[in-house]
Amino acid sequence: MSAILAIEDVTVRFGGLTAVNKFSMAVQKGAIHALIGPNGAGKSTVFNCISRIYQPSEGRITLNGEDISKLKSHSMAGRGVARSFQNLELFNELTVLENVMLGAYSRCDTTFLQRLTPRPKQTLEQAEEILESTGLKNYRNTKASGLDFGHQKLLEVARALAISPQLLLLDEPAAGLRSREIERLDELLTSLNKTKGITILLVEHVMQLVMSISDRISVLSFGEKIAEGTPTEVKNHPRVIEAYLGT
Ligand code: ADP
Ligand code: MG
Repeated sequence: MSAILAIEDVTVRFGGLTAVNKFSMAVQKGAIHALIGPNGAGKSTVFNCISRIYQPSEGRITLNGEDISKLKSHSMAGRGVARSFQNLELFNELTVLENVMLGAYSRCDTTFLQRLTPRPKQTLEQAEEILESTGLKNYRNTKASGLDFGHQKLLEVARALAISPQLLLLDEPAAGLRSREIERLDELLTSLNKTKGITILLVEHVMQLVMSISDRISVLSFGEKIAEGTPTEVKNHPRVIEAYLGT
């Protein structure tokens, strides 16, 4: 097994606050890896470093061995790294199909004008295929604002898929979902991983999902890694129990 993503001794400071402290983690190619921890632990900050929205104060991040620590965030899509956001960032007035098609634009590491050139037919076909595989086909022409919350969360994932990612970063995709919707998300992520070979790094609080789909779990608390291992190892780890119970 080889690491698709390696985070090495990453520290992120915001003024006097150390949000992430000497954090290291390797995500193996083809894995579903979860990053969990209490609120404020630094999970989204780690995601923002990988997607190059934040610059780590110290440390290094590599993608397939390439140091990405100095790259601009728009060049990540071209390298096959896609992400969804903790808070929905959809185009509310556009349809489901249009949202997915626009997702494909971020793949192009080009100028704004070039992005406005007519879409190849391929993009439409690919978007239709994504709607089919994510179960959004029946909502093709519905405005994003007209979807219920569960389908909006699915659309976030669908949009990220438009760049045909090799690595998918999902920030709390199950937050606010009902149990039936969580089961559907579980099936979708498992299928993306198994049939399309997409590596998934998942930040999630919904333990039912994390324990069911993860090959490996890293646990952050107050910016530091306190445990790492298989779901069973992590579930029974005393420091994890302590961090979650706040004792
Ligand atoms: P999590 O996603 O695990 O809940 P975050 O990564 O969002 O945690 O936040 C970790 C810590 O860093 C928190 O204390 C948060 O307030 C702080 N933080 C995150 N982003 C910023 C920022 N842009 N400026 C200042 N503080 C931030
Ligand atoms: Mg967060």
